[in-house]
Amino acid sequence: MTDPDSTQRMEGLLAVSRALAAAPDMGVFLNNLITACAELTGCEIASVLELEEDGKQLRFLAVPWFYLEALQTLKVPLKESIAGRAVRTGKPVVVPDAAADPGHFRGIDQAAGFTTRSLAAAPIVYQDEVLGALETVNKVADAPFTEQDIEALAALASYAAVAIHITRLVRKSEKVVDEMNRLDRMKSEFIAIASHELRTPLGLILGHSTFLREVIQPEHRPEMEIVVRNAMRLKEIVENFSNIDNVRRGMATLRRRVFSLKRAIEEVRDSFYQETHKKGLSLRIETGEDPLMVEGDADKIAIALSNLVQNAVTFTNAGGHILIAAEPMPGYVKVSVIDDGIGIPLKDLPHIFERFYQVETHLTRKHGGMGLGLSVAKVMIEMHGGRIWAESVEGKGSNFTFILPLSPGEPPPALSS
Ligand code: ADP
Repeated sequence: MTDPDSTQRMEGLLAVSRALAAAPDMGVFLNNLITACAELTGCEIASVLELEEDGKQLRFLAVPWFYLEALQTLKVPLKESIAGRAVRTGKPVVVPDAAADPGHFRGIDQAAGFTTRSLAAAPIVYQDEVLGALETVNKVADAPFTEQDIEALAALASYAAVAIHITRLVRKSEKVVDEMNRLDRMKSEFIAIASHELRTPLGLILGHSTFLREVIQPEHRPEMEIVVRNAMRLKEIVENFSNIDNVRRGMATLRRRVFSLKRAIEEVRDSFYQETHKKGLSLRIETGEDPLMVEGDADKIAIALSNLVQNAVTFTNAGGHILIAAEPMPGYVKVSVIDDGIGIPLKDLPHIFERFYQVETHLTRKHGGMGLGLSVAKVMIEMHGGRIWAESVEGKGSNFTFILPLSPGEPPPALSS
């Protein structure tokens, strides 16, 4: 091996910088970087050491594969090593004769069965933070390190800095994803337990209060009405819980039959008559003459549609308008629930189908709900091979649309209006 000339050095550095932009894996990139580093500085081997979180020692992040086993668990002390000196001073360090330098950490040679004769180390710095060091070892023919060697080493150290920074970001985001998955599992378990434990007592409250409403003295009926209405509301929440839980556990099944979606839409409209009337909202449907025959689980489609209409009712102020429109398309039927209510801010729109997502926080919230209605609607529609999406302008209103295949054999429709 001979020293590369300046053109070879420039070409080598360019190749490494291009590889950094293209590398899918930073571990592979760092391994290529140490090979290039040894070549461009005319040395036998090179390695990357990362400063540990405690800031007291370094560990090897990239070494030639034949030393990997010997060195991957080795800790290199910050105070008694040449790499540590580069990290501490923030400057390149050149050691022409390692045997004569008391700062050289001999543990590396012992572990790897190697003899370090000369070495140079450059700090790896990312935005003022020293992340580690790049070392190049044993200059060929025991020649002295040149200025060009140290320049190449420093340039490669700056590429290594970007790679280590990216590696750390990936590690951090993996931790966050793990934590999110853990929380998601806890949420799911909570849903399962809550829906199971609440169902029986709630059934009893509802049964007895409905009975009492009929037999009670007329002057107490309004109070009883409130009890029944709120027990019904609780029942809806528990049903949403168990719908979500069944889907999660793969226990949700479709009871398919051919039914008229037009009829189902009319039934949903009728079920909201009292609520819309009381709130001063107009609720219209536009379904045309076609009965819109669909093969699917009528109950689940009705739940999805009711949840959309419930939201339209909740988030539209008195005097507002709600329209349920349905039209046949080749192989599908398209249903939209359109309101001229408060709308949804653009930043929240991509998240509203997530479980427990609500635009307002629980603390500032004026409206009820658990942030489950839309996620339930989404799973109900997607179980049928359909798609659901929302368009909305804050302050103007919202349009929730789903498309549903007419029969199970249809390919999934594309996500567009
Ligand atoms: P919730 O049961 O709390 O309403 P959903 O999952 O049904 O939960 O809806 C999630 C959030 O999306 C709601 O809290 C609300 O902020 C927003 N949202 C849903 N539908 C509408 C709508 N038609 N108009 C305005 N905001 C809506």
